[in-house]
Amino acid sequence: MERTDPWECVIVGGGAAGLSAAMTLGRARRRTLVVDAGEQSNRAAHGIGGLLGHDGRPPAELYALGREELRRYPTVTVRDASVRTAERSDDGFVLTLEGDEQVAARRLVLATGMRYAVPELPGVDAFWGGAVFHCPYCHGWDVRDGRLAVHGADHAVHRALLLRCWSPDVVVLTDGGALSDDDRETLRVAGVAVDDRRVAGLRGTDGTLEAARFADGDERPLDGILVLAPLHQRHDLATGLGAALGERGAVDVDMVGQTTVLGLYAAGDAGAMMPNVAGAIADGVRAGAAVNDALIALEHGVPPMMPRRGVPARD
Ligand SMILES: Cc1cc2nc3c(=O)[nH]c(=O)nc-3n(C[C@H](O)[C@H](O)[C@H](O)COP(=O)(O)OP(=O)(O)OC[C@H]3O[C@@H](n4cnc5c(N)ncnc54)[C@H](O)[C@@H]3O)c2cc1C
Repeated sequence: MERTDPWECVIVGGGAAGLSAAMTLGRARRRTLVVDAGEQSNRAAHGIGGLLGHDGRPPAELYALGREELRRYPTVTVRDASVRTAERSDDGFVLTLEGDEQVAARRLVLATGMRYAVPELPGVDAFWGGAVFHCPYCHGWDVRDGRLAVHGADHAVHRALLLRCWSPDVVVLTDGGALSDDDRETLRVAGVAVDDRRVAGLRGTDGTLEAARFADGDERPLDGILVLAPLHQRHDLATGLGAALGERGAVDVDMVGQTTVLGLYAAGDAGAMMPNVAGAIADGVRAGAAVNDALIALEHGVPPMMPRRGVPARD
C-alpha cells in the first residue's frame, strides 16, 4: 500500500460543494486533494435552475468549468477516484481509495452529496430531473402554467400550495395515502383537486411527461409532477469517523461545516437542511476558509479566528 505525505486538506467529492471548497483552499495556497467519483446528484437534470450566473446551465458543464478553473491553482489536485474508507490518525485522517491506495490528510472535508430516494413509480426514471422533480424552486419554472400534480399524501397541503406558485392547475395524487378532512378542505378552498386512485405509473415520449396512469386503467394528462425524494447519506464515511447526524440524516455541522469530530468538515448536501447548488457552493467556501483558519491556528499555536464548535474563538 502506497502512502504519501499528508495533504493539508483532502476533500471527498467534487460536486458544487467540494470544488468550491477546493477553490477557497487553492486560493489560500493550501495543498489540497479532491477525490471525486463524478456522480453529482443533479446529473439527471437538463439544467440547473436558480443558480445565479448559471441559471439553466447543464450540471455537467458547471462541474467541468469548476475543474477547469481549479487548474489555475497549482496546490490543488483533482483525482477521479472513490474513497472507500476513512480513519482517524495521530495528525489527521487516513483515507483508503479504491485499489487500496492510502492518502493522509490533516483536515478532511466530506462533500459527498446525498442519495435522493426517488419514489418507486414505474416510468419515473425517464422523467427524473425534468418533469418529475422534488424541488419546485429548481424545476417548477420549467413547467409553469402546466398541468401539475403532487404525488403522495405526506405534506401534500404544503407542497400543493407551494406548487400553486407555478400553476393554477394542481392536483394531489394521494396514491393510497391518507388526507385528513381539514387537509381536503384547505385544498378545496385553494382550488387544488384531489385524486385518490392508486398511481400505476407515468407515461410520456422522449423524456416528455404526458400522463399519470392509474391502477383502474384510466389516465390523467400531466406536464409535471412533484415527488418526495428523501435524502440519505451515500455511505458511512462520516458516521464511521464518529460524526453525529442531525435532522433528516444530514451530518450535524456548525455554521462553518465543522462536524462533531474536530478536523472533520461536511459541506453541501451531506450536511445541508435545504439542499441546492448555490447553498453547496457557499458551504464549500465556508468549510474551505474554516479549514485554512484551523491550519493557521495549528501552525502558529494561536486560537482560530473563526468560531468553531468545541474550539474557543479568538477574542
Ligand atoms: C435530479 C436533481 C435535480 C436537481 N436540480 C437542482 C437545480 O435545478 N438547482 C439546484 O440548485 N439544485 C438542484 N438539485 C440539488 C443539487 O443537485 C444538490 O444540492 C447539489 O448537487 C449538492 O452538491 P454537493 O456538492 O453537495 O453534492 P453532489 O453534487 O451530489 O456531489 C457529490 C460528489 O461527491 C462524490 N462522492 C460521493 N462519495 C464519494 C466517495 N466516497 N469518494 C469519492 N467521491 C465521492 C459524488 O460522486 C459526487 O461527484 C437537484 C438535485 C437532483 C437530485
